Amino acid sequence: MIEFKNITKSYNNGGPPAVANISLRIERGEFIFLVGPSGAGKSTLIKLLFREIMPTAGRLFFLKRNITEFTESELLRYRRRIGMVFQDFRLLKQKTVYENVAFALEVLGQSPRKIRQKVPLALEKVGLTGKEKAFPSELSGGEAQRVGIARAIVKDPLIILADEPTGNVDRDNSKQIMKLFEGINEGGTTVIVATHAWELVNQLQKRVIALKKGRIIRDEQNGGYDTEY
Ligand code: ADP
Repeated sequence: MIEFKNITKSYNNGGPPAVANISLRIERGEFIFLVGPSGAGKSTLIKLLFREIMPTAGRLFFLKRNITEFTESELLRYRRRIGMVFQDFRLLKQKTVYENVAFALEVLGQSPRKIRQKVPLALEKVGLTGKEKAFPSELSGGEAQRVGIARAIVKDPLIILADEPTGNVDRDNSKQIMKLFEGINEGGTTVIVATHAWELVNQLQKRVIALKKGRIIRDEQNGGYDTEY
């Protein structure tokens, strides 16, 4: 489904490339943890996948099409199929929980009827039924991230990309968040999570891709988090 072919990204800051000559295949329905120390290149891989940034060299395929060659309209269509989850949640402060999730569909031009159908289902999946009217400032970190996940899944994405999704969430809630990703993945969605949460990586036993200085140093099915980090 996704293929990185000799992808290198340099940020033009004179330093070594953030990721160097990465080749990697990800099949539909996989669950992947990207691990590695700070600065290893995890966020860069996620940003490349969302085409927030372009590679300096190499090709990046999604369903056999090179995403670096997408036109603006192809890029918009591609991004519709990706749900992003951020460490800092990125909720709209002046909108309620319900409105934050609904907004993800409004910007895609979906009908009010569809939105009324889908938003409650997404909120139910993340266990936030009853919190529809709350504002982000009234939520715990765990709840805010569950809104972030509801917003990502409400558009039925093919891929979920999450960059340190438990970075601002306490330990118990982090476990819940990872369980949510696991459930979403069991429904067929490809899930890619960059994380430092080593205990959860060890517990979930998914494919683990470890990066160091922009290179893949380990790629294991049912892997764990190396204590080296
Ligand atoms: P990680 O997510 O594993 O912490 P990043 O992908 O954020 O790693 O960073 C990889 C390398 O790229 C680091 O050396 C970082 O300083 C550098 N980098 C990341 N973003 C930028 C940027 N916008 N400009 C310059 N250098 C950057």
